[in-house]
Amino acid sequence: MGLSTRLLPPLGADAHKTYRLGIMGGTFDPIHYGHLVTAEQAREALDLDLVLFMPAGSPAFKQDRSVSDAEDRYAMTVLATAANAAFYPSRFEIDRPGVTYTVDTLSALREHYPDNVELYFITGADAIMDILAWHDAQRVASLATLIAATRPGYDIDTARAHIAASGIDFDVRYIEIPALAISSSNIRELVSVGKSVRYLTSESVMGYILKNHLYEPKGECRR
Ligand code: ATP
Ligand code: MG
Repeated sequence: MGLSTRLLPPLGADAHKTYRLGIMGGTFDPIHYGHLVTAEQAREALDLDLVLFMPAGSPAFKQDRSVSDAEDRYAMTVLATAANAAFYPSRFEIDRPGVTYTVDTLSALREHYPDNVELYFITGADAIMDILAWHDAQRVASLATLIAATRPGYDIDTARAHIAASGIDFDVRYIEIPALAISSSNIRELVSVGKSVRYLTSESVMGYILKNHLYEPKGECRR
């Protein structure tokens, strides 16, 4: 864990101040404007000092598909977040073998940063529901405040009801953000059939996808 925690941005220097650290987790295959708007709106709504963008380690498969190489997903995350002074891409999860549970990431961040740094885990309306299914949901709740952002196609009130019925004492802040019906799956699909993804993600990410032939059907020469 040593190297990856040393790469984390410093926060919490003034012991008399409280700092707020956002964590935006995801597969980011690829990162897109939905992720960036969510993190930026959460940063502003909760007055976060920094937001870590943490691509997940590579599972062998996610929902029956292979996930792109972690280095590609990380590189796109760096490109997409480069211009925002509050956004920091993090190698923390991709530098660990296999898939890292969010609870372990949050524990490591909790250990790394001083007590005057509060943790805020940012999710969309779909992902907040997944947290309830995690085996360590109770510990997640004790380590971080959750931020649940609206996402087209997912009902935030259903998420709210599930959280309320869970019996777990989550501190959840629900935020309404400008609706972007963008998903990584849709971007992969568009690229695979040769359609444009311009303005769904940054020019830099789009360029990276095309240059490195990500999401093109395997075994076919398309260009
Ligand atoms: P995939 O289609 O592969 O599942 P995705 O677009 O859902 O990709 P993820 O990497 O799975 O992206 O999501 C990371 C986080 O970003 C999750 O918390 C998810 O809810 C949130 N998120 C993704 N897209 C949006 C969006 N358009 N609006 C709000 N939140 C989003
Ligand atoms: Mg998703």
